[in-house]
Amino acid sequence: MNIILFGPPGCGKGTQSKRLVAERGWVQLSTGDMLRHARAAGTELGQRVAAIMDGGNLVSDAIVIELIEERLPEAEAAGGAIFDGFPRTVAQAQALDQLLLDRGTKVDSVVELKVNDEELVQRLVKRAEEEGRPDDTEDVIRKRLEVYYGQTAPLIPFFADQGKVKAVDGMGSMDEVAAGIAAALEEK
Ligand code: ADP
Repeated sequence: MNIILFGPPGCGKGTQSKRLVAERGWVQLSTGDMLRHARAAGTELGQRVAAIMDGGNLVSDAIVIELIEERLPEAEAAGGAIFDGFPRTVAQAQALDQLLLDRGTKVDSVVELKVNDEELVQRLVKRAEEEGRPDDTEDVIRKRLEVYYGQTAPLIPFFADQGKVKAVDGMGSMDEVAAGIAAALEEK
């Protein structure tokens, strides 16, 4: 099973991915987490992407595609991959389709978590207070939303053409959203 959890920054992709990992034993493939780990470890890659991330911009497609490719065997062995924060551009989506095709699998579902902008900004500002992520300042949050609507939201029609998009209300409690995702994954 390969599912994409899709939606703007702050929509709850990370939280819901972790629940799916705990409940189903699948593997969360978060390019944001992978990039943050690279930074924390001080690798050459981490140093290269730091300024781009802190400005709210996207790192290059080649970098994130390689990070994802490295982890596919592990996800396959676990019986499921939850793509979180990837793909973020049409080029990334096309690369993912090809990588999975080469392995004899495909994207099964794209779960779109719908949350309005006002709520997103509130959540991200709160997260900034709790976690202090360098890209959670108000200016950068605004930039990340702009990048989302400009570069990432066009993936919805891309996957809708393949009949894979399932919209889920992301405004409820964590349990309500989890139930919505579970129901969406049951749909044919
Ligand atoms: P968010 O919570 O805003 O969705 P993430 O943790 O997924 O953030 O990503 C944080 C940052 O890492 C992004 O703003 C971007 O700079 C970089 N990043 C993560 N995933 C990708 C990707 N698939 N393509 C390009 N850049 C990415």
